[in-house]
Amino acid sequence: MQKLTSMPEPFVYTAQPTRVVFGADAWHMLKAEIGLLGAQKALVLCTARQRGLAEQASEALGKSAAAIYDQATMHVPLAVVQEARVALTRSNADCLIAIGGGSTIGLAKALALGTGLPILAVPTTYSGSEMTSVYGVTEGGTKKTGKDARVLPKTVIYDPQLTLRLPYDISVTSGMNAIAHAAEGLYAQDSNPMITLLAEEGIRAMASGLRQLQHQKNDVNAREQCLYGAWLCGTVLGSAGMALHHKLCHTLGGSFNLPHAQTHSIVLPYAMAYNASFAPSAMQRISRALQRSNQSAASALYDLAQELGAPMALRAIGMRAADLDQAADIAVAQPYWNPCPVERDHIRTLLQYAFEGLRPE
Ligand code: NAD
Repeated sequence: MQKLTSMPEPFVYTAQPTRVVFGADAWHMLKAEIGLLGAQKALVLCTARQRGLAEQASEALGKSAAAIYDQATMHVPLAVVQEARVALTRSNADCLIAIGGGSTIGLAKALALGTGLPILAVPTTYSGSEMTSVYGVTEGGTKKTGKDARVLPKTVIYDPQLTLRLPYDISVTSGMNAIAHAAEGLYAQDSNPMITLLAEEGIRAMASGLRQLQHQKNDVNAREQCLYGAWLCGTVLGSAGMALHHKLCHTLGGSFNLPHAQTHSIVLPYAMAYNASFAPSAMQRISRALQRSNQSAASALYDLAQELGAPMALRAIGMRAADLDQAADIAVAQPYWNPCPVERDHIRTLLQYAFEGLRPE
């Protein structure tokens, strides 16, 4: 096995400025934390499904809660952003609180982009959006994404208690989605020793938390591990450039409407198999973090997903065989950096394997 502790290559590292408050019941710090931001009144954002949680937060905030907007929706449709903007203006709020997953945090980012208001995020999934300055708004079926420092949350409160009700199947795919961020961070062109440490520890924590969750779905310690892993993996996503895996998932989600986290979970082992021989040290770290040092990273990830009961084939989540050729064309249409050259025929083979859920080679 190659030594993993050799001296690093020259690198650049920029630390993220987000303040992180982590721990069971940490969400009770909400009022104090908006005070530290110098804000007076918050617009609380959530999905319709998480309205109850937003109401509890509002009660705890008292006069510091200006209003609740509860229509956050997957992929941040422009119509929702426009409606939320009206609610924001009416509320006179001077900060945004996003309680929920990537969809709710995405809405807060779209509002912050236009107004410059600070975001305090309380993530309740493992998507990692809270640690990135990437935003996206969907208009006419196309999601336009961008990067802007104004949308990076100023404060993130991670409270594992708030994730106890996250359904097990969503927890698993959301957790695999987080592992994907860290896995690609390990071979990113702009990676550095700090990102490598965060990524390996993030994968270890997430996999260990998910394995515990399988046996005890309401275990706070398991949830703590997962959320800790989500923070680390999200930090990697916010700091390092992503490659083949994320591009493929973006294609499958954006052009074929496949669900975000499930798609990530299914594609990850195949993307790792594709890049394996061009990123050997990243692969060793992934296998080690999964406590499967004797296995390839691709095979260990495939086994983890299977062990956790995740969906294993693109055809099981709505992909049509007839669309695979087009998906391969779109995935290679615009060049991007990847450790291994991205070739159309090989990508088509990868997609066939992922479509059928075959063990990656
Ligand atoms: P999500 O936010 O859409 O949440 C999925 C569902 O789970 C929703 O119905 C939500 O109400 C519910 N939910 C969330 N937390 C819950 C909890 N603790 N208990 C019970 N129900 C809960 O899903 P997601 O996977 O977190 O986010 C996906 C979106 O985030 C996608 O649009 C993706 O593109 C985006 N995203 C963006 C970034 C970024 O850096 N900008 C990063 C990752 C994901």
